[in-house]
Amino acid sequence: MLRIRFHGRGGQGMKTASRILGSAAFRAGFCVQDSPVYGAERRGAPMAAFTRIDRVQIRERGAIVRPDLVVVADDTLLTDPAAQPLAGCDAESTVLVNSTRDEAALRQEVPAYTGRLLTADFTAVALATTHALASLSTALGVAAACLVGLSLADSLAGLDDELTESHMSMAQKEANRQLAQTVYAQASSWAPVREREDSRIAETAPLVEVTFDPPRLAGPSIYAVGNSPQRRTGNWRQFRPVLQVERCTRCWICFVRCPEAAISLDAQEYPVVDYDECKGCLLCVHECPTHAFTVEKEVR
Ligand code: SF4
Ligand code: SF4
Repeated sequence: MLRIRFHGRGGQGMKTASRILGSAAFRAGFCVQDSPVYGAERRGAPMAAFTRIDRVQIRERGAIVRPDLVVVADDTLLTDPAAQPLAGCDAESTVLVNSTRDEAALRQEVPAYTGRLLTADFTAVALATTHALASLSTALGVAAACLVGLSLADSLAGLDDELTESHMSMAQKEANRQLAQTVYAQASSWAPVREREDSRIAETAPLVEVTFDPPRLAGPSIYAVGNSPQRRTGNWRQFRPVLQVERCTRCWICFVRCPEAAISLDAQEYPVVDYDECKGCLLCVHECPTHAFTVEKEVR
């Protein structure tokens, strides 16, 4: 069995990437399982998705604790205590990171990790091909499919399965297919991920019987005063909105719509973005009627 774990932030499309991989493997004739896990639904917050691939029926369930391949949608997650993408990784694991930085720079951040670390700027490739950030899911799903040894034809078939359910235009779907081919060619230069010798061990474990728990267990109790002001969300940001003040009509729509209350108003009632809190969801960019925000990629 191959176990693949995707780590991303809400809105980066890692659930879809996991599904593209799962559909591609299914098309290739494998038994497949994929499932995401979220905390509280929140754009920008860390999330994970799990894909298992095997030649026989998969009886294992739940989170993947010892992954063969980990796909990380942005390098800020590498050291994020809420995400912990390297948890359970060992010398046999492969970690693929979407980043503008090279392997040596990333390894400085995670010195304890001894497995294979691959990196490429998939965001740049996706934007150059489709002009849509959402297509990162296509890029990372297909890169993972290539790394686990699936063919380009099966990868494209898996992608088509996902695109069929989307509301994309035909031109966008075709751009995603082109992106898939570009990424597949790039990922083909990497050696494929191998199954572990003991990859079937967990399969013999009995299925877990889920017992009834009282509903109160799911209702959190509050034991401390609110600490949300201490939780800076600015380091979630991959792209920053930058106000071009000459285009702003001071309609306040961005100020009202920002989900993090990261926009305040200055003395002249122009919006001001607090970059310590702005998580980079770009809702303000999409909502602004005069297109007064431009978007800049963060460079860390
Ligand atoms: S300022 Fe814009 S990009 Fe930042 S959190 Fe608010 S709406 Fe999102
Ligand atoms: S939505 Fe656009 S025009 Fe309106 S206040 Fe914000 S930046 Fe200015």
